[in-house]
Amino acid sequence: AKDAGRGVFRTYEPQLHVQAEERRVLEMALRKAIENNEMHLNYQPVVDAGTGGLTGFEALLRWTHPELGPISPAKFIPLAEEARLIESIGEWVLRTACDEAASWPSHIRIAVNASADQLQNANFVTVVTSALANSGLSAERLELEVTESVFMHEGLGATKTLERVLDLGVRLSLDDFGTGYSSLGYLSRTRFSSIKIDRSFVQGASKGVREAIAIIRAVVALAKSLGMATTAEGVETEAEHQMVQDLGCTKVQGFYFGRPLPVEEARTLANRRWSD
Ligand code: C2E
Ligand code: CA
Ligand code: CA
Ligand code: CA
Repeated sequence: AKDAGRGVFRTYEPQLHVQAEERRVLEMALRKAIENNEMHLNYQPVVDAGTGGLTGFEALLRWTHPELGPISPAKFIPLAEEARLIESIGEWVLRTACDEAASWPSHIRIAVNASADQLQNANFVTVVTSALANSGLSAERLELEVTESVFMHEGLGATKTLERVLDLGVRLSLDDFGTGYSSLGYLSRTRFSSIKIDRSFVQGASKGVREAIAIIRAVVALAKSLGMATTAEGVETEAEHQMVQDLGCTKVQGFYFGRPLPVEEARTLANRRWSD
């Protein structure tokens, strides 16, 4: 399909061309990934910073292409967003995660990532309602993770959707806090239950970077005064755990406590008592 005329562009910008071709291939595969059973969820433990007890799991999407193998969400999620496939993929994630969490002990929560694009559509409220009803999961056990980007584009539509989802009793977390164009306004306007502190700050703090420590300290104080929890993300070592605990983070998540687990392993962990 590449005629001589287009070949001019190929020699001019070869990288771009390869990327476009790869995108096209991935996008086509992505359209069929769910019906072809190529996607599944992993579940990463979220732990109480003080007691070390399991409080819940974050559902993380995995895609294994039959020929290309596993493809990182960092790569295919943005692609799914651009191709307007994130709504249907996101709906599948939500339903699958709620179905699974409904089988866990009732004190264990499930966190599901929601893309800003999903929240632009008012239909999202219906999808959440239906996922809860079909699974039998109580709304308080579902936590939706959104990033600051939700408030950047067409903020009003998303804010209304968030309000209606909150009215269902679902919890809301602000993901990757501090990495986007942070504005404190929406923190006071939206009823977040928790703020997730990005791994970059956790890493920085444990290396003694003063700015990272200052930021975590400030976010923890802010969250506390607003009645929100703080989850430190990407905790990989005992030293990092100690650091974020000393700084007052209420929950922790990271490879130190557990990698994203296959569904059966998460289920076993969910049913285990702390003392075991
Ligand atoms: P996120 O929501 O910030 O998820 C946390 C990411 O950090 C996950 O990467 C997780 O595997 C990784 N992680 C957890 N603990 C550690 C650690 O101790 N060290 C390091 N180095 N990494 C850690 P993952 O699974 O590759 O997902 C990347 C991103 O893709 C997520 O970032 C989220 O933005 C997006 N994503 C994943 N699943 C979904 C989904 O179902 N829907 C949407 N919309 N986005 C998703
Ligand atoms: Ca997340
Ligand atoms: Ca995050
Ligand atoms: Ca992230």
